[in-house]
Amino acid sequence: MTDDQKNLARRMVLGAAGAAVPMTLAQQSAQAQQQPPAANRDGPAVLADPRQKYPRPPFPRQEQPWPGLASRMDPKPDHGETSYRGSNRLAGRRALITGGDSGIGRAAAIAYAREGADVAINYLEAEEEDAAEVVRLIREAGRKVVAIPGDLRQEEFCTRLVEQAARELGGLDILVNNAARQTAQQSIADITTEQFDSTMKTNLYALFWLTKAALPHLKPGSAIINTASVVAYDPPASLFDYAGTKAAIIAFTRSLAKQLAAQGIRVNAVAPGPFWTPLQPSGGQQPDALPQFGAQAPLGRPGQPAELAPTYVLLASAEASYTTGDVQGATGGQPNS
Ligand code: NAD
Ligand code: MG
Repeated sequence: MTDDQKNLARRMVLGAAGAAVPMTLAQQSAQAQQQPPAANRDGPAVLADPRQKYPRPPFPRQEQPWPGLASRMDPKPDHGETSYRGSNRLAGRRALITGGDSGIGRAAAIAYAREGADVAINYLEAEEEDAAEVVRLIREAGRKVVAIPGDLRQEEFCTRLVEQAARELGGLDILVNNAARQTAQQSIADITTEQFDSTMKTNLYALFWLTKAALPHLKPGSAIINTASVVAYDPPASLFDYAGTKAAIIAFTRSLAKQLAAQGIRVNAVAPGPFWTPLQPSGGQQPDALPQFGAQAPLGRPGQPAELAPTYVLLASAEASYTTGDVQGATGGQPNS
């Protein structure tokens, strides 16, 4: 048999097997959960069906006290721990990522380190366990890591965080404003002044304080990346305060991009759809809604943090030198403008 004939025979066997035992989406999803996508190191890139690549709803009912831990989620989120491969796209850069312990921030931290950047992460003391895992992964990538726990709702801490990160990293080129507070409430009547204040302080004031403190360190070519959300465009009834902050983050991003273009600093935002992170079981969703989280997206499932890492890398890298004032989505097909 020639090589072509052998390949054809192989394809026919696979095809026949596929036709004889068709798998339901649920079965394929279960299989995907047992076999997380592995990077195909030698052959062509894996042609993964985005519907089956990761777990689909329904998810087990689960709740965690705020701020939640990735390690306690079922299924565990994929932050790219075993799959993200870098290619020196951020070699020598120094990045500060808030909320770098878990979820989208952790995925960005892993990817940045594997792309050659030194990384400082901020998180809350209650998240030390998640943060320790990120610290280990960044060290394993051969990069410097600075872990700085603390509460972003205080201006004094935000200033100190930036100064410490810049001092220990030897400068700062990338600021990722990613930490956030999200607490679902059915009615505005249930939102206390304390909750409203916490949401505003974490999502908006901290971004303002951190950006102000970082500016003196940022040279032309530096990048600021803010995490917004698709809820800025279509705010759910239950996320009155949170959605308001995400809309404001988009306006902040566009305004600042115009302002900082004169200094050669790019400012962009990422607007994710539903992503499987500790934000959701720790108050971000009503507990009854969590099992169906992501079902409404056309792809039928929530995104995993690893699926956003390339977006954060691109916006930070010099490859995106003409991209500023932009909002990049990853929504599983939901409208994102
Ligand atoms: P996450 O819980 O993993 O990350 C949020 C982080 O915010 C926490 O890890 C915590 O360290 C940090 N944080 C919260 N309050 C803080 C405070 N007072 N001081 C210091 N740090 C504090 O969840 P995630 O989903 O990865 O969230 C990251 C970003 O993504 C947030 O801006 C969130 O609004 C945004 N986002 C998430 C989704 C989603 O579905 N998960 C969708 C759209 C946007
Ligand atoms: Mg966390």
